[in-house]
Amino acid sequence: MSAKKGAPELKHLDHILVTPSAIKRRVAALAVQLNADYIDKDMMVVAIVNGALIFTADLLRQLSIPLRLDCLRASSYHDGTKAAGEPRIIDQMKLDVRDQHVLLVDDILDTGKTLAAVARLIKSKGATSVKTCVLLDKTARREVPFEADYVGFGIPNEFVVGYGLDFNERYRHLPCIGVLKPKYYGGK
Ligand code: 5GP
Ligand code: MG
Repeated sequence: MSAKKGAPELKHLDHILVTPSAIKRRVAALAVQLNADYIDKDMMVVAIVNGALIFTADLLRQLSIPLRLDCLRASSYHDGTKAAGEPRIIDQMKLDVRDQHVLLVDDILDTGKTLAAVARLIKSKGATSVKTCVLLDKTARREVPFEADYVGFGIPNEFVVGYGLDFNERYRHLPCIGVLKPKYYGGK
C-alpha cells in the first residue's frame, strides 16, 4: 500500500478557510450544546441535502439523545456560484413533523432564503419547535432577516467548497472548507 494521499482535488484549492481538525472540534462542541438543549425532547433532524450530508453525518454520531432523521432537497444554486431566484423544495419529507421538535441542518446560511423558506414550511406543517443548525454562516450576504440557532463558523463572503459543499457537484468529499483557484470556477 502506498502512503495515504489526499484527494487530487485538494490541489484545486486556492486557500483553506477551515481545517479538518477545526471542523472536528467545532462539531463536537455543537453536539455538546445540542445534547444539553434537547435532553428532554424527542428530536427530529431534517437535513437539507446534498450540502448538509457530511456535516449531519458527523454531528448526529455525537448526539446521545433520541432522534429521528429525514432529509429534504432544496435548490437555489442551479449551476455555478450564483443563486437563481427563490429556493425550490424538491423532495418532500417522509416523516410527519406535526408536534415534533425539528432541528433543521444545513451546510451554509448565505442569503437566508433557503432556511427561511424551509423553516416556514415546517412550521406550517405543525411542528412544535423549529431550530436551525448550520456549519457555516456568511452574514455579509444575508438578504432576508434570518439567524441560525447553532452556527459552526462565521466565514467571509467567498464561495466555498468541501465537507459537503460543492461547485457543480464536485468537491463535496474534501475534508476541509476552502476556496477554489479562480480557474476552477469556470468549467463544469
Ligand atoms: P441561501 O438560501 O441561504 O442563499 O443559500 C443556501 C444554500 O446555497 C446552501 O444550502 C448552499 O447549498 C448554497 N450556498 C451558499 N453559499 C455557498 C457557498 O459558498 N458554497 C457552496 N458550495 N454553496 C453555497
Ligand atoms: Mg444547500
